Amino acid sequence: MDIKEFYIDGEWVSPDGTDVIDLINPANEEITGSIISASKKDVDDAVKSAKKSFEVASALTLEQKKKVLQEIIDGMDTRRQDFAKVISEEMGAPLKMAAGAQYGSGIIHFKNTLSVIDDFKFCEVHDNITINKLPIGPVGMITPWNWPLNQMCTKIASAIAAGTSFVLKPSEITPGAAHILAQVIDETSLPKGILNLIHGYGQTVGREMSSHPDLEMISFTGSTRAGIDIQKKASENIKRVSLELGGKSPNIIMDDVDLEAAVNMGMKQCFFNTGQSCSSPTRMLVPENLLEEATKYAVQASEAMVTGDPSEEETFLGPISNKTQYEKVQDLIQEGIDEGAKLACGGVGKPNGIKNGFYVKPTVFTNVKNSMKIAQDEIFGPVICLIPYKNIEEAINIANDTSYGLSSMVSCGDPKKGQQIAKQIRAGQVIVNRISRGDYPAPFGGFKMSGNGREHGTFGIDEYLEVQAVIT
Ligand code: NAD
Repeated sequence: MDIKEFYIDGEWVSPDGTDVIDLINPANEEITGSIISASKKDVDDAVKSAKKSFEVASALTLEQKKKVLQEIIDGMDTRRQDFAKVISEEMGAPLKMAAGAQYGSGIIHFKNTLSVIDDFKFCEVHDNITINKLPIGPVGMITPWNWPLNQMCTKIASAIAAGTSFVLKPSEITPGAAHILAQVIDETSLPKGILNLIHGYGQTVGREMSSHPDLEMISFTGSTRAGIDIQKKASENIKRVSLELGGKSPNIIMDDVDLEAAVNMGMKQCFFNTGQSCSSPTRMLVPENLLEEATKYAVQASEAMVTGDPSEEETFLGPISNKTQYEKVQDLIQEGIDEGAKLACGGVGKPNGIKNGFYVKPTVFTNVKNSMKIAQDEIFGPVICLIPYKNIEEAINIANDTSYGLSSMVSCGDPKKGQQIAKQIRAGQVIVNRISRGDYPAPFGGFKMSGNGREHGTFGIDEYLEVQAVIT
């Protein structure tokens, strides 16, 4: 998609910036379009618009907010295939999955916010104290490429519900979904100036936003590396910083489950979106006496996953989203081999018969030590580490022996045991005996270096509010 405009103050405007960023289809390495990276003036214009419209945003009534959320849902529905096509083209998600999980993970946030907003308490009274929850002020939103719609939709739905204006800068690798979403929102009754969309590099545009004196908050989803930089820059004017960062999530499989089913579930979850999810369960912890059998099932599951053209119906694994990430995955696979982890299947290089595109062989390492780099670093590709444990205490120690704390899976025969184990795991989400999160908009966010924010539903709205006590 060729994107020649930004969306500022309700208008499609030509950028002041001149740096052209080519968009590369990772399935064939061809240029599919381009964007312009915003200049400082573009950032200032977008922030000025958000600042000007903040009063209007914070005066939106409950009925107006609900109307806008519903209009966005309806508008997105008419563009589903456009979203799917551009996401698939820009980051390589299989087209079917892009129209399913990728699209679904975005629209769900508007639906969920709509379902909780009626009961959200923007004001509480306790005797002579009134507690007001007031919108924080213009927000900068910076999002990554791996689930492009998901991350911007959760932020936008919460910001509209909270009643604040914002400037969105999506990943320079996947700007298309944001462009379409802005077209959808342009058609709704959301007053102009509340949504502002600019594009460009993180190192320039993202950093400019992080230190901008007129933004009160940055809501960021992306790498821990960038999160640290944003927090430093944002400290210049004591901005609130909400960070959703990386992960190296454990999946504890206990000895009282159907091992084949549990391994299959863990493999599917880990390699979904070609392993490019922050919450992927990339460390599969299995009882040491079951390691060999678990490895066999993991290899079978890996070999059954079809790697190939994202437009093909049966493709499960598309390419890695970009060249830099592809090279990083290759380097880490080599590192695992060099460290002495046992390669059960996959390895370096492209899958047989594939020449073009950033495709990776689905790779299973077994008998991995948790101290190895492949067990500590976020790889962000279809690569899994099977790690043996002696008893559940050791499994919990290994699960927590990471600088991250985003997510965790547990497969166990007794769901009560799963609840007990969950409390001992230092992660923002523990999924017991299932894959999906269910219908209720559960909070999402990390412990430790996985971040400090919480998104989705009421927790997401809270992120964009200041708490004020009025004492009478
Ligand atoms: P990234 O950090 O390189 O980029 C994310 C966004 O930040 C992009 O828009 C980029 O332009 C911008 N950016 C980069 N450097 C910046 C800087 N110094 N200052 C300001 N902005 C900057 O991440 P990515 O490669 O696009 O995405 C993958 C990462 O995102 C993984 O680490 C993944 O775990 C993480 N992620 C986390 C969650 C979560 O909810 N916790 C969800 C999805 C992805």
